[in-house]
Amino acid sequence: MIRTAIGDLNSVGQGEKVRLNGWVQDLRRLKSIAFVVLRDHTGTVQVTLKPDALSNYNEVSELSRESVLEIEGKVDRKSGAKAGMEIQALSVNILNISRSPLPLGIDDPVEADFDTRLNNRFLDLRKKENNIIFRVESSLLWGMRKYLMSQNFVEVHTPKIVAAATEGGADLFRVKYFEKETYLNQSPQLYKEILMSSGMDRVFEVGPAFRAEEHNTPRHLNEFTSVDIEMSFADHNGAMTMLENAVKSGIEEVLAINADALKLLGKELGVPEVPFPRITYKECVKIIEKKGFTFNYGEDFNTEHLKEIGKEFPGFYFITEWPATVRPFYTMPKQDDPSLTNSYDLQFGEKEITSGAQRVHDPDMLEKRFMEKGLNPSDFEFYIKSFRYGMPPHAGWGLGLERLTMIILDIPNIRSVTLFPRDRTRVVP
Ligand code: ATP
Ligand code: MN
Repeated sequence: MIRTAIGDLNSVGQGEKVRLNGWVQDLRRLKSIAFVVLRDHTGTVQVTLKPDALSNYNEVSELSRESVLEIEGKVDRKSGAKAGMEIQALSVNILNISRSPLPLGIDDPVEADFDTRLNNRFLDLRKKENNIIFRVESSLLWGMRKYLMSQNFVEVHTPKIVAAATEGGADLFRVKYFEKETYLNQSPQLYKEILMSSGMDRVFEVGPAFRAEEHNTPRHLNEFTSVDIEMSFADHNGAMTMLENAVKSGIEEVLAINADALKLLGKELGVPEVPFPRITYKECVKIIEKKGFTFNYGEDFNTEHLKEIGKEFPGFYFITEWPATVRPFYTMPKQDDPSLTNSYDLQFGEKEITSGAQRVHDPDMLEKRFMEKGLNPSDFEFYIKSFRYGMPPHAGWGLGLERLTMIILDIPNIRSVTLFPRDRTRVVP
């Protein structure tokens, strides 16, 4: 008999036989009857166990919580069960017995502290409201992938063990690679660009990015999932259009697939209107100066500044035309004012989700930019080489998948939307 998901029991007729697989969430033994609340990834159902129906009744009715069962039984809608139905067990196969006590309760009314939860993440994720986040993230990414594929992007995979630092020496994890010293990649930037020289035209990559940032904040991890694109014969405007449409498509997919999840989490989500507003860096400076801040023009915005800007723009919006001083070497200067760049960040209120830009495609300009940023071009020879024999103009972006998930579900800590977060103090589990 094939397995029925508990969430699909509603469409099974009275008296029909089903096979269920799941965990013992609760077990109550009365005088000559026992009730199991069985849980799988779709929900819970009450199962009635009777001694005369089950040869292993004694063993089953003594089971510890979170033991794993396979139950065959009949759907019974006439009983007084709370959910309007229960299952009358015909056979119970014990697949695995859980040890007790549990390090973390699954349906305890009091929430355990966050460290205990993360230390026992396998149990923490058995709670629907926790694991459902990752279903939402999966549909979000699927929606973005669908859009990018529709625009002829090719999904690629570039190396994560690298010899050169994408954005300079800071924030890199070192890796001993036989007799060489190498690094974990901060971003696929250089490889995405080389693929533009390879004539791949439009690529995207979903993969890990590593940053040895020492700070502990609610929005930084030391390993996160980056959704990156690069496209040829396009500038920053073309890349921004791809970005807002990919985000919109991701959210549409979540609404189509995860309506129940959003309801369970109590989240209201709407499809954002595109195009998103575009505000220049200069306009943002005006906003924060008007709020009474003294701001050094040419610097990055700090959290306080972004809070003020976010108050003016609570939804999705782009900050464009960043000064060259705060953008990486590969960022294209603005034609009529090279102190600015063809760059942008996608923001949601005060939170950054994406950075992107048109890139420099002229090898001489690129070498000059390396020098200005105090980097040694010879460390990047493998990269610059791909610019010397016909590099097309190109543009792209990198989006933090966890950041976008936090935003659409309105979850304050990035660790909640990461299965096994890596931060300054946590590498286990
Ligand atoms: P931030 O200013 O928020 O630290 P950043 O500007 O240093 O980010 P980028 O190099 O622009 O980061 O990376 C592109 C995107 O990757 C960011 O917009 C963000 O969504 C995500 N991201 C960057 N660093 C982290 C991190 N440490 N943890 C989680 N996501 C990150
Ligand atoms: Mn950024």
